[in-house]
Amino acid sequence: SRPEELDLTTVIPEIMEMVHKKAEVHGIRMEGRLPEGPIRVLADASRLQQVLLNLLNNAIDAIIEQRGSTGGAITLDLFTGNNGSATIDVSDNGTGISPENIKKIFSPFFTTKPVGKGTGLGLSVCYGIVQQMGGQMAVESTADKGATFSIVLPTSDAGA
Ligand code: ADP
Ligand code: MG
Repeated sequence: SRPEELDLTTVIPEIMEMVHKKAEVHGIRMEGRLPEGPIRVLADASRLQQVLLNLLNNAIDAIIEQRGSTGGAITLDLFTGNNGSATIDVSDNGTGISPENIKKIFSPFFTTKPVGKGTGLGLSVCYGIVQQMGGQMAVESTADKGATFSIVLPTSDAGA
C-alpha cells in the first residue's frame, strides 16, 4: 500500500463517475454534497476507491431490490469535524437493514444476496481498510427506508 495525500473533494466525484452509468440505467439519482476543497487525507488511492465503490455498489443493489428502477437516490456527503477528521456519508433509499442483520453487517461472509451474487466480503474488507487508514466505519439504517454508511478519516493536517 502506498499512502499519498488525496483531496477528497476531487477523489469523490471521480469515484461517483465510475458508477454513474450503472446508476443511471437503474433510474438512480446520485448527488455529491461536497464543501469547498481541498480536504486532504493520507490514503492509498486504490484502496479508498475500493471502499467507496463497494459502498456505492451495495447501495445500488439495495435500491434495485427495494424499488426496481424507479425513485432510487444515493447521496454522498462530505464534511469536516472540529477535531481534524473528515466524514464521508453514503446514503441510499434502498431496502435498509434490520436490527438483527445490522449486528453482523461487517462480519466476513455475511450476505443476504443469493448464492453466486454476493460473497459477504465487501463490507468486512472495507472495514479493515478504513481501520488501517486510522479511520472508522459505521452504519445507521431504518428497515425499508434506507441506510447510511459513514467513514471517518483523519485529515492529513491533523497530525495523525
Ligand atoms: P455482499 O454485497 O457480497 O452481500 P457486503 O459485505 O458488501 O457483501 O454486504 C453484506 C450485506 O450487507 C449485504 O448482503 C446486504 O444484506 C447488506 N448491505 C450492505 N449494504 C447495504 C445497503 N446499502 N443497504 C441495505 N443492505 C446493505
Ligand atoms: Mg457488497
